[in-house]
This record gives sequence, C-alpha cells and structure tokens, in this order.
Amino acid sequence: MSTVNAYAATSADAPLVPATVERREVGPRDVLIEIKFCGICHSDIHHVRGEWGPVTYPVAPGHEIAGVVAEVGPQVTRHAVGDRVGVGCMVNSCRECPPCRSGEEQYCLNGTVFTYGSIDRDGTDTNGGYTTHIVVDEDFVVGIPEGLALDEAAPLLCAGITTYSPLKRWGAGHGKKVAVVGLGGLGHMGVKLAHAMGAEVTVLSQSLKKQADGLRLGADDYYATSDPGTFERLAGTYDIILNTVSAKLDIDAYLSLLALDGAMVNVGAPPEPLSLNAFSVMSRRRSFAGSMIGGIAETQEMLNFCAGHGVGAEIEPIPAEKINEAYERVLGSDVRYRFVIDISTLG
Ligand code: NAP
Ligand code: ZN
Ligand code: ZN
Repeated sequence: MSTVNAYAATSADAPLVPATVERREVGPRDVLIEIKFCGICHSDIHHVRGEWGPVTYPVAPGHEIAGVVAEVGPQVTRHAVGDRVGVGCMVNSCRECPPCRSGEEQYCLNGTVFTYGSIDRDGTDTNGGYTTHIVVDEDFVVGIPEGLALDEAAPLLCAGITTYSPLKRWGAGHGKKVAVVGLGGLGHMGVKLAHAMGAEVTVLSQSLKKQADGLRLGADDYYATSDPGTFERLAGTYDIILNTVSAKLDIDAYLSLLALDGAMVNVGAPPEPLSLNAFSVMSRRRSFAGSMIGGIAETQEMLNFCAGHGVGAEIEPIPAEKINEAYERVLGSDVRYRFVIDISTLG
C-alpha cells in the first residue's frame, strides 16, 4: 500500500478538500500510473453530492485520467514504463459474462468496477483521478496515441467515448442529420465527433451564447431551445438526437424533432426520472434509447480515431485548488468545454 495525495469529498454538501488515498501494491497484472491530468465530468458532481444515491465518503472522484506508466507488474504485456496511457470510468469487470466477452465491460452482468465509488476486487473502495497515482489492471488501461496532447486527451476517456459509442452505433455519418442537445463537456465532444464522422450537425443549446464556438467546433447549425420557434422550425428533421443534458428535459418536445425511424439517445444522467408520451415514439416509429460510456476496445478505437482526425477536447486547465470553483461553473453551464485538473498542483 502507498498513500498518495488527492482531492476528495467528505460529505454531500461540503467542498472537496486536500486529502490522501491508499493505493494497492502493484500486482502481477497491474500498472502504476503517474497521473498528469484529470478532467472534471458532471458525473463527478452528481456522485459526490449524493444525487444518484448513497455514497461512501471520503471519495476522490475523477474518471478522465491521462498519465504516464511509472511501474508495471511482472505479467503485464500491454503497457511499459514511460507509455502515455489513460483510464476512464471502469477499472475492472468479471471478464466472463456475455457483455464482458463481447468487449462491453460497462454492461458487465456481475457488476462493473467503476473508477470511483465502487468496491474493488480486494474489497477496498475505489478512488478516481483527482490523485497523483492510480494502480489499475492492465486490461483497463488504454494507450494514448502520439499526436494527442495528454491534457486534451484526458476528457476523451469519458466525454469522448460516451459520445463516440452511440454516434457510431446509431450510424452517424455522411447523409445523416445529428442534433446534439447541450454544449457542455459531452456535447462539445459529440459535435466534434459527429462532424468528424461526416454527419450534418446541429447544436440545440439553451441560448445562442455559445453559437460561434459551436460552429467553430464543427456544427452546421445552432439553435436556442429557449425559443419556442426552434421546435416548430425543426420538427421531423433529425436521424439522431444525442441528449447530453445533466437536467430533466421535456423529452416529448425533443422526440418531435426526429424524422421517421429517428432515435433519441440519452447519455445525460439527471437524478430525476424522465418521462415521455407513447405517441411521441409511436408516430414516425421513433426510438428513445440510452447508452453508457463504451467498452475498453472501443475506447482505444475512439482514441485512435481522435488522433487520426486531430480531435481533442477543448479544455480549461485548472490547479487542484480551483476544483470547487470549477464545479460551480459546470453547474451554471459556464464551461468551455471541459475543466482539466493539472495534477502536478497536487504535489
Ligand atoms: P456539462 O459539461 O455540465 O454539460 C451539460 C450541458 O447541458 C450544459 O453545458 C448545458 O448546455 C446543458 N444544460 C444544463 N442544465 C440544463 C437545463 N436545466 N436545461 C437544459 N440544458 C441544460 O455536463 P457533462 O459532463 O457534459 O455531462 C452531461 C450529463 O451526462 C451529466 O448528467 C453526466 O452525469 C452524464 N454522463 C453520462 C455518461 C454516460 O455514460 N451516459 C457519461 C458521462 C456523463 P447549454 O448551455 O448548451 O444548454
Ligand atoms: Zn464522466
Ligand atoms: Zn462481466
């Protein structure tokens, strides 16, 4: 065991504070990573504030981890000391159930071990990337290709894969019209990735404040959802709507924007239930679906795609002491477009 510096939450309603967490000894199949950068995902905020359910405190969140391999166990074959690597939302799974066998470890039937807020195989609580080091089974560590800067790559480990996976599954590409709802951390990656896949992309944001950015990131159109005229104008338009919003939305209003056979894929995870009218999906044979992150192999594929297309996250680097301030800005939809903690400031 070793003790490493961290920023952690100690209760649902207190700010995060400097703390330490324990890391296990490097086992035969483990990789010790010196973390360089960690993105701040809205999920970190939902989790530490107890919005999704009971939480074991203290917890160091963070699942957009980019760093360098510092040590490997004797049986490790996929990574070597000095490699640039990433860890996303998962650090283990059973490896045996059908989803695990088909590379969809995020849907493990026996319980995915998440990067923080889970119980690890050894019975300890997992802690995430707001820390200087992490020890992870090599199978849950991905390589960050040359050409991607580590700070701009960190958010790809959650925001990138969470948008890449459904866009690919629902066929975003040439000739497809994709709307991305919410231009935050996930949303801005959704725009960049759908554009890189060749789709025609529209941003549906609360206001036009970020319109110039949206168009620069690759959107073809940009509309304010606060304007009721938007829903009339765009009725029946989209093949895919990717909802990245962290709060409850009027789902029926968005479903009305889908074309025949169109799908609205929900990746936003508000604590409140969402509801919809059956007729909103029955008419025009629309679907309402959901998607959670992506498997490890697909995460590597996404990183390679990003390197090949020059796609990184648009980031605002911050020192660790600004984490609580950054949380407030995320909650106020004032993020352009991902805060990334410079872990060297944790000492
Ligand atoms: P974020 O950076 O805060 O972005 C969310 C965006 O949603 C905001 O920037 C804002 O965009 C819009 N929004 C916020 N409140 C709204 C409201 N009341 N009404 C309408 N729009 C609103 O958050 P994120 O990190 O991208 O995460 C988004 C959600 O996805 C969170 O719930 C998170 O937990 C979830 N998530 C899910 C997965 C998964 O695997 N499915 C993975 C990661 C995150 P505009 O200002 O443009 O309107
Ligand atoms: Zn996340
Ligand atoms: Zn499994």
